[in-house]
Amino acid sequence: MSTVTVPELSAQTRLLVVAPHPDDETLATGVLIQQVMAAGGQVRIVLLTDGDANPWPQRWLERRWRIGAVDRQRWGRRRRIEVHRALDRLGVPSTRLLPLGWPDMGLLARLRDDTIITLDALTAAIDAFAPTLVALPALGDRHPDHGAAHVMCRLALARRVDSVAWLAYPVHGSHEDGLAMAVEEGSPAQRQRKLSALTEHATQMALSGRRMRGLAARPERYVPAEGPEVSGTGRLPWQPPTVLHPFLRLLVAGPAGVSDRPWRQWPMTRGADGSYRLDMSAVASSGPCFARLHLDWPSPWIFDHWGWCRL
Ligand SMILES: [Zn+2]
Repeated sequence: MSTVTVPELSAQTRLLVVAPHPDDETLATGVLIQQVMAAGGQVRIVLLTDGDANPWPQRWLERRWRIGAVDRQRWGRRRRIEVHRALDRLGVPSTRLLPLGWPDMGLLARLRDDTIITLDALTAAIDAFAPTLVALPALGDRHPDHGAAHVMCRLALARRVDSVAWLAYPVHGSHEDGLAMAVEEGSPAQRQRKLSALTEHATQMALSGRRMRGLAARPERYVPAEGPEVSGTGRLPWQPPTVLHPFLRLLVAGPAGVSDRPWRQWPMTRGADGSYRLDMSAVASSGPCFARLHLDWPSPWIFDHWGWCRL
C-alpha cells in the first residue's frame, strides 16, 4: 500500500497549489497554506478556472433562469473576487494568485484538444515559481475538472529535469478505500481561519453551505496519487459490461500526447481474472501515462463514473 507523508515545512518551502475552481484552495489546502506561511515559506495559487459554469447557485442568487455567456462571465468575476478575499483571510497576498481563466467544466476538453498549449502554460507557471511542493487535485476525484487537472499537472511536472514533491488532495467522491493517506489537522486557530475563509465563497455557500462546512471541518487529506490500481503494465481497473462496449471511449494521456478513441479500437487483451490489459506499445510513452474510461453519451450527471487510472 502506498503511504503519503507531508514534507517538513520550513522557510525554504515554496508551496504551489493548483486549484481547478475558486474554493478548492480553501477547502483542500486552507490549513496547509497557513502552515507554510507560518513556517516562513512562500505560497502561490494557480487557479485554472473562475468557476463560471455554476448555473444552479447563479440561478438562485441572481433570480434568473436563463444563464448566457455574459451571465457566466459576470459570475466568474464574482467568484474571482471571492477567492481573493478567501486568500486574504488565509494571510496570502493577492499577488500570489495566478488565474489562468480556462473554461469551467472544460478542463478535460482542453487537455485533449489543446494539449501542448495547456502543458506549456502550466509548465511556465511551475517554472516561474520553482515550487518545492505542489498540491494538486487527486487523480481519483470524481469531478472531471479535478481528474483532468491532476493529469495536466503530472504531465507538466514530468517535463522538469528535477523532481518536485507533490500532494494529491481529494474533494469529490470517496477516497478512503484501501488507501493510506496523510492527514493534516491544523491548530484550532488555523481551522477557524479556514472556516472564515470559506465564508468568503458566498456563491458556493448559498446552496451548499452545509456540505462545504462539512468538507472544511474535516482534516485535510492527501491520498496516494495513483490510487490502489497502479500497475505500470497497462492493466485497467475497469470491467465494463460488453453491452456497453460500442458506446465507450478510452482516453489515454501521456508525454507523447493525448488520444481519445472508441474502446474497441485500442489493442487489448483480457486476463483469466477478467481484467483488461492495454497493449502499452500502442501508447509509446516514457513517463507517467493515464487513461480515462467514459461513455460517449451526453448526460446531465457531471461526475465521473469510472474516471482515471494510472497505466
Ligand atoms: Zn473544484
